[in-house]
Amino acid sequence: MLSFSIVPYCSIDFIHCNLSKVDVYAIQVDNETFAKVIDGKRVAKDIREEIAVEISKMKEEVGIVPGLAVILVGDRKDSATYVRNKKKACDSVGINSFEVRLAEDSTEEEVLNHISKFNDDPSVHGILVQLPLPSHMNEQNVLNAVCIEKDVDGFHPLNIGRLAMRGREPLFVPCTPKGCIELLHRYDIPIKGKRAVVIGRSNIVGMPAALLLQREDATVSIVHSRTKNPEEITRQADIIIAAVGQPNMVRGSWVKPGAVLIDVGINPVEDPESARGYRLVGDICYEEASKVASAITPVPGGVGPMTIAMLLSNTLLSAKRIHNLR
Ligand code: NDP
Repeated sequence: MLSFSIVPYCSIDFIHCNLSKVDVYAIQVDNETFAKVIDGKRVAKDIREEIAVEISKMKEEVGIVPGLAVILVGDRKDSATYVRNKKKACDSVGINSFEVRLAEDSTEEEVLNHISKFNDDPSVHGILVQLPLPSHMNEQNVLNAVCIEKDVDGFHPLNIGRLAMRGREPLFVPCTPKGCIELLHRYDIPIKGKRAVVIGRSNIVGMPAALLLQREDATVSIVHSRTKNPEEITRQADIIIAAVGQPNMVRGSWVKPGAVLIDVGINPVEDPESARGYRLVGDICYEEASKVASAITPVPGGVGPMTIAMLLSNTLLSAKRIHNLR
């Protein structure tokens, strides 16, 4: 029979956290300790409810409804699914969504024309170009064309530049890294003075995640594909954010006891037992790492739901800023 108890994780000082009256404790089963699960699905749901309430008030009091425009080029199935999910999420909180679908062989000029129209449209507060774009288009030109005030993805170089500079504030922070930090905040996990390691340095996740942690006064190291002995670096971390795209790369032995683990990776791996023939796993080997860490995000159900919640939050933020609302 399993013996089951909840124990405070004593090896670090910051894991006794509070999320809507749920204390964060490691769980002990038969003398094995398991990390507390950081429930991104639940946090994202809370955030969406908060956003829906604000939007409904805004509509009632000043008659403004936030609007998000999405441009999808080509017929990649994964991109179409992401766009569909974003539209559904907008509908669920009361954000108007506008969608433009263009054929794979459309010209860059066509995309730029649509961006320009949305830039000038007062009912649109956020513009998102679904990536990746077809290879004949210059992604940089396209992302630069989105006006910075409507750059809810936070990918415009001016927004990233401001994020990187001391004393400057970006108008928007990219959604996935923002979601990672929001999870740490909502679970009351201190960042200031902690050692953080970000694995991956992409423009959309790893690099902005490292900048955000640094802005929160963590001491940050970045591990990338050319890093030698990455496990020596990750073993020093109080917080690890993994955004690599390599299934189960971070093993239990890479993790300092009591560390907090945020897993951004979404990797399909073959699974004959699943009806789809595959299942999704993260960049962190959950089975091993959850026995060493004090808190961990699952995949799926961790960072993924937070990304869309942050997109909705950025769109609301944009509408409030454009209309000078508090
Ligand atoms: P990219 O491919 O753009 O970047 C991957 C990064 O990982 C690069 O910086 C690369 O290093 C680094 N890397 C690759 N292999 C290794 C290795 N063996 N050791 C250390 N570092 C390595 O990916 P993204 O940042 O776009 O995405 C990362 C993961 O996050 C993917 O699984 C993606 O599906 C997922 N994702 C999840 C989201 C969500 O909402 N949950 C949103 C966005 C992405 P280098 O720079 O040296 O090449």
